[in-house]
Amino acid sequence: CGIVGYVGEKQARDVVIEGLRRLEYRGYDSAGIALVDGGTISWAKRAGKLANLEKAIADRPLAASTTGIGHTRWATHGAPNDVNAHPHLGARGRLALVHNGIIENFVELRTELEDAGHELVSETDTEVAAHLVERELDAGADLTTAMQRVCSRLEGAFTLVALDAADPARVVAARRNSPLVVGLGEGENFLGSDVAAFIEHTREAMELGQDQVVTITREGVGVTGFDGRPAEGRRYHVDWDLSA
Ligand code: GLU
Repeated sequence: CGIVGYVGEKQARDVVIEGLRRLEYRGYDSAGIALVDGGTISWAKRAGKLANLEKAIADRPLAASTTGIGHTRWATHGAPNDVNAHPHLGARGRLALVHNGIIENFVELRTELEDAGHELVSETDTEVAAHLVERELDAGADLTTAMQRVCSRLEGAFTLVALDAADPARVVAARRNSPLVVGLGEGENFLGSDVAAFIEHTREAMELGQDQVVTITREGVGVTGFDGRPAEGRRYHVDWDLSA
C-alpha cells in the first residue's frame, strides 16, 4: 500500500521508518524494512502497526546502512501476518523486494519456480517476483536489468522496489498501473508511492511513466522502459503546504 526507498548518506532505517509514518494515512495491515549492509540484507517485518515493527527493530537492531526500502501492506493475497508482510526475499536471501498492487499471473510463475526447486514461504503474489529477480541476478544480470526482464513477464498492477545485497549503491524500482515517484536530493535520492514518503527531504520530484524502471544511486537517477531502452520521467516541483 505504501512504499519508500532511499540511497544517500543518512541512516536509511530512519529515513524509511519516517517515510512509512508519513504514508500511514493510506491504511495498512503490516509493515517491513530491508537494508543492505556489507553484502547481506538486514530486514524486519511485522503484522499490525508501525509501532510493532519499531519494537522488533528495537529488540533486534538492524545493521547500519545508507541504502534501504520499506513497505506498508494492504493484503490482497494471503493473510495479514508476519510471514506475508513485505519485504520478500529471494531463495538465497540476496535480493529483497517490496510490492504494491497485484501480480495477476503469479500462480503460473509460482508453479514454474516450484518445478525448478524453489521453496516459497509466503502466500503472497509478491514472493514470486523476489525469486525471479534474484534468479536473474544469479545468472549475472545487474539489478536494473534483472528488474526489466522480470517486469516484462508480470501481468497486473504493480510498483516494485528492490535491493541487491551485492550492490549496495543502488535501489531499483518499476511500475505498471500503480504509482511511483522519485524524490531528487543532493547526494541522496528517494522513492515513494507518493511524495509524502520524502517531502521532508526534498520537493524536487519525478513521476514515472507506465512500464518504466528507475535506478537511483547517491549521484543520480536513470530511467528505462521494461524493454531496456532509455526513457525519461516527468520532473516537477512539489508545492505542498506541510501544515495543511
Ligand atoms: N498483493 C500484495 C500482497 O498482498 C501487495 C499488497 C499491497 O499493495 O500492499 O502482499
